[in-house]
Amino acid sequence: MFESLSDRLSGIFDKITGRGALSEADVNEALREVRRALLEADVALDVVKSFTDKVRTRAVGAEVIRSVKPGQMVVKIVHDQLVEMLGAEAEPVDLAAAAPVPIMMVGLQGSGKTTTTAKLAKRLTERQRKKVLMASLDTRRPAAQEQLRVLGEQVGVATLPIVAGQSPVDIAGRAMNAARLGGYDVVMLDTAGRTHIDEPLMIEMQEIKAATRPHEILLVADALTGQDAVNVARSFDSRVGVSGIVLTRVDGDGRGGAALSMRAVTGKPIKLIGVGERMDALEDFHPGRIADRILGMGDIVSLVEKAAETIDAEKAKQQAAKLKKGEFDLDDLAEQFRQMQKIGGMSGILGMMPGIGKMKKQLEGAGLDDRLIKRQIAIISSMTRTERQKPALMNASRKKRVAAGSGTDVQDVNKLLKMHRQMADLMKKFGKQKGGLGALFGGG
Ligand code: GDP
Repeated sequence: MFESLSDRLSGIFDKITGRGALSEADVNEALREVRRALLEADVALDVVKSFTDKVRTRAVGAEVIRSVKPGQMVVKIVHDQLVEMLGAEAEPVDLAAAAPVPIMMVGLQGSGKTTTTAKLAKRLTERQRKKVLMASLDTRRPAAQEQLRVLGEQVGVATLPIVAGQSPVDIAGRAMNAARLGGYDVVMLDTAGRTHIDEPLMIEMQEIKAATRPHEILLVADALTGQDAVNVARSFDSRVGVSGIVLTRVDGDGRGGAALSMRAVTGKPIKLIGVGERMDALEDFHPGRIADRILGMGDIVSLVEKAAETIDAEKAKQQAAKLKKGEFDLDDLAEQFRQMQKIGGMSGILGMMPGIGKMKKQLEGAGLDDRLIKRQIAIISSMTRTERQKPALMNASRKKRVAAGSGTDVQDVNKLLKMHRQMADLMKKFGKQKGGLGALFGGG
């Protein structure tokens, strides 16, 4: 599905990854080409625009990592942005509710709804050991209920016995009852589709929803229909409310636009993808893996990740060296705060320091919880370089300026300066001992 987009992107990035220097114009040119490639892949215009804007902002603000070439950095930024656009984390079908958990499948006719219902039922049965009951609520297409029954037999999942003449809501009610009585974990409700969205269909979906209170409402959409699939998802969501999307025919040679813009446009996660007609051709949707597939530059991405880790380690080492000499200025304090944010906040890092329990209590007493770490960083960032290196310079008027610049009060600035003095004293004391705090920060 993503082949031609993938080819285009590798072409664009091959031109820049090897180069030692990149001008802003080079980056802009590459981004223009990325933009064109995404539009040609049928990604929604707003999504493309916001994508390239975010990449540009990140590229401008990116920290330069010495061991990495600028073009490689750009690839990594594009990769991360792709992952974000696709939804960041995989979101599995949620079954955390009282049994029997109703899952309602909705979508247009021919989208692959019935097939997907059976595929998902098979997967829940085999992989999650769930007892699943399937019911077709499609009373419009005479063969629909029979189709689900046959698929049920094929995958070894029970289907609700067919009773002629019942309404969709009646069938749904009967399915829920049968599931309760039969001790089923999950009830999959395969609803009727239409060739296009119309009012009676939406009303029918709303009635079924009201009668069964589904825990998941999964919209099944055909990836090959591109932006139409996205529009269908939007309509269903606004009328019925969907909790997730299943994109089918991702094995086909579509341009990928639906898959790429679905999440950003609808705000709903793609939970599963259909990748073939066989009953096991259903996969979890992993944004990271899809981004890797589209970009095809996994090596560069992991190279940059490694380099970034190394930089962190180097920073820690430099800091350890300073600490050993008993130096600890406000830049060091800010760096400490940033590291704390990374490793789970104040309680995390202080918990790791020996002999600092008392200080921890003091800091907590001073109201320094993780939420406030950000504010401390803001205060330090509002100081000039000289002030950060020589906190003693901070007189009343400077404090006022810094408070205004960081959106805090002079009192907050004072508190921070006091904390810095205490920390600096502590660092000095430990720094002189061999293997003290310096060791903790990676020096030793
Ligand atoms: P419904 O009308 O929405 O219930 O659609 P069906 O479940 O009957 O599917 C219509 C056709 O699409 C069937 O021939 C399926 O085998 C096929 N189909 C469904 N999902 C996929 C998929 O992920 N890949 C491919 N290649 N075909 C699929």
